Amino acid sequence: MKYEKIIIANWKMNLGFNQSIDTAKELHLLLEKNDIGDKKQVVICPSFLSIYDLSKVLSGSMIALGAQDVFYEAKGAFTGEVSSENLHQAGCQFVIVGHSERRAMGETDEEVGKKTRAVLQYDMTPIVCVGEKLDQRKKAQTEEVISNQVKKALSEVEPGQYFILAYEPVWAISTSGSGQTITASEAAKQIELIKNAIPNHLRDFDIIYGGSVNASTVKDFTKNFAGVLVGSASLEAKGFFELIKNS
Ligand code: PEP
Repeated sequence: MKYEKIIIANWKMNLGFNQSIDTAKELHLLLEKNDIGDKKQVVICPSFLSIYDLSKVLSGSMIALGAQDVFYEAKGAFTGEVSSENLHQAGCQFVIVGHSERRAMGETDEEVGKKTRAVLQYDMTPIVCVGEKLDQRKKAQTEEVISNQVKKALSEVEPGQYFILAYEPVWAISTSGSGQTITASEAAKQIELIKNAIPNHLRDFDIIYGGSVNASTVKDFTKNFAGVLVGSASLEAKGFFELIKNS
């Protein structure tokens, strides 16, 4: 385990430009004033447009910057895409890949694998999201789906390269519409399954959880997981600070 706990905010397409800066500044001040130890790794993944400015706002703070996606090619005629090199230049240290909302837009396991490789090429840490959909869970396909996603996402990772795997049951994400959540103990059962799917030559990783985590539930999940990936509960600085503190 590289960090004591890893707490990652995925703001998705929610906060505007000024709001992103204000929220990041507020969180930075809260973390500075209240000692939460120096071993927790806090990461904010804002929209692409806010990354560069946030890198200045957060410079010297304990908050690292991440992106919500990346394209796997290095450069060229790929309208609208953002390269790993650009993200690195803009100050990112982490990049989410394979989020279920991107997979729902057509991203394949193979593309997730290529994105993971592209992130590692620039010495950033990929946060690889895996998890079953509700219908797959009902059909008892959870194990097969997760193993497959893990193997394909990591197919080009080399020994010694550090990565984070985020187990996110798609149906337990707060905005999924299922209205369901998973208990921390049920989620923790997938840790062994995920570990078993990771090729033996890759030993440098952490497994975190994501899906409807809030300041009251975070501790249940961080008992077994190395951290959490947080959507809705990361959008407001005070609430997210409480979550970080309670982790
Ligand atoms: C997510 O979408 O990755 C997520 C964890 O969202 P939420 O915390 O809102 O469930």
